[in-house]
Amino acid sequence: MKSVIKRRIKRFLEDAANNSQINPIYSLLLCRMAAEAIIADTHRSNISQGEPKDMVTIGDIQRLGLTSEFSKTANASFTYIQQISNPFLHFQYSDMHSQYADKKLVERVISSVQDILDDIEGKVKKISGSGHTIDDQLDIFFEAPQNQPIIKKAMSNFLDPSSFEEMMSKQKPSALGEFCICGEIKPGTGKKGSKRSVKQKWINKWNKKHANCKQELLDGYVVEIKRISEEGGDEFIRNGVKMILLSCKASIDTNPDNIDEESGRPMFTNEVIRSIGNISDFRPFTMARFWMFLFRRNHPNIMLKWPWDFDSF
Ligand SMILES: [Zn+2]
Repeated sequence: MKSVIKRRIKRFLEDAANNSQINPIYSLLLCRMAAEAIIADTHRSNISQGEPKDMVTIGDIQRLGLTSEFSKTANASFTYIQQISNPFLHFQYSDMHSQYADKKLVERVISSVQDILDDIEGKVKKISGSGHTIDDQLDIFFEAPQNQPIIKKAMSNFLDPSSFEEMMSKQKPSALGEFCICGEIKPGTGKKGSKRSVKQKWINKWNKKHANCKQELLDGYVVEIKRISEEGGDEFIRNGVKMILLSCKASIDTNPDNIDEESGRPMFTNEVIRSIGNISDFRPFTMARFWMFLFRRNHPNIMLKWPWDFDSF
């Protein structure tokens, strides 16, 4: 790493620590910039042709093909930093709960940046607490005999074309109307729109618009499955689970309201599923139905089934 970048990162982390009490959100943004500095430096030393980007974001790790430049632990730390800081980057209209940040959270994020730096320099991290890091816990989850049937089913939902098609064509409640496989509702179906109130012209237009949705979906699936298989197939599902858990962890850390009092486990939120966007651009795989094997329904909430220990992640 360039020494000038090293100094700038050090400065970011010192400022973050100094402001953690009075302005924790500012500190979190400084940590994010420190993480981006690490990515930018790696990007520059790896680029073989073309102009390097002056500004990179954490999402660029994937886009610039840098995932393999960092260890799995470092990649997990980047995702954690991204998910903690995301809520403070942009105004979110629909967000009812104000996001919560404090000194303790800043300290955790600073130590995540430090972990990445140590990892790059090859320093061995001392194991804290139970020692069951997120990767250890994933090993236990994927190897537990009682989990084998659900894991097998989940694999086939992703990797077997006929299971995939079945998952995609699972109907939403018919009261809502007829749906295209892409998720759009057909005008004049369902409770609200009676057939007469919708002109045939609109129905024809809709039919035309959605005529190729199924074929496009299956074409996209073939491309994605090829990519996933090249990466080793089941590794995708493991990484997906990891992304969801990191998102849960970030959710607990930023918003303690997200912890269900009865079970102590986090409530399922949309952001959990959005986290899959970190590992796949194929929209259907970001749908909740593909990841339900991790959850159980406890109306109106959806709870994690497995007793993940978030404190030691
Ligand atoms: Zn459609």
